Amino acid sequence: MIVIVCFVSMCSANRINRVRIYDIFRKQPTKPAALFEKWSGFSYFCGRITETVNDLLVNIHTHRPAGDAVEPSFGGVHPWQAAERFDAEALRRAVGDAQMVGEIGLDFACGVDRTLQAALFRDQLRLAEELGRPVVIHCVRAYGEVMRELARYRLRAVVLHGFIGSPEQAARAVAAGYYLSFGERAFRSPRTVEALRRTPLDRLFAETDDSEVPIDEIYRRIAAVKEVGTGRLAEEIRRNYEKIFER
Ligand SMILES: [Zn+2]
Repeated sequence: MIVIVCFVSMCSANRINRVRIYDIFRKQPTKPAALFEKWSGFSYFCGRITETVNDLLVNIHTHRPAGDAVEPSFGGVHPWQAAERFDAEALRRAVGDAQMVGEIGLDFACGVDRTLQAALFRDQLRLAEELGRPVVIHCVRAYGEVMRELARYRLRAVVLHGFIGSPEQAARAVAAGYYLSFGERAFRSPRTVEALRRTPLDRLFAETDDSEVPIDEIYRRIAAVKEVGTGRLAEEIRRNYEKIFER
């Protein structure tokens, strides 16, 4: 085992830098190496390359970070909380320095006043536009409305998380330049599986959200539907991840 300290990535605040290192070489770190990184803030290359792709995976949305994939941070106010009323200052605080603004969106199944949801959604879309950060969208029975709102802003990137829907809805999102993220629930819905099958690899993400199924299993299921190897899928998703953070 050879561990090379990479001083190029000394800027520990630069997540993208870190992510690239994860992407290219990082394999399961040894304990001392992991501790070194924790204490020093330095990232490192770990010299042993194995066949496993686990640590090259991206989990675009999870509420249970497991440390078994790149797990971007997200911050924002969920539509379920729309009745609590957040002013501009509170929204900025909620978003903080998270990499992605989310989950934000519309949920017409949750019983929260739709006008309040729409106002909160717009405020956060405006903020994401201003901050130049990607958004993670929560959308339940509000597909048309969500798409209409999204179209009004110049957003760095849009990820529809936990996508459940028809191939036509998926195609419309892809045509708009958006990404679709699939989790465990997608595989319980035949039309969503068909939507996944038709979604191009360069528009895909995988997630665990609040599911118990680990991210590598989600990758395996997506790869099976897409009829590609998990290595190829991991490569494509990693590229998508880099793209949404590119300036
Ligand atoms: Zn979620």
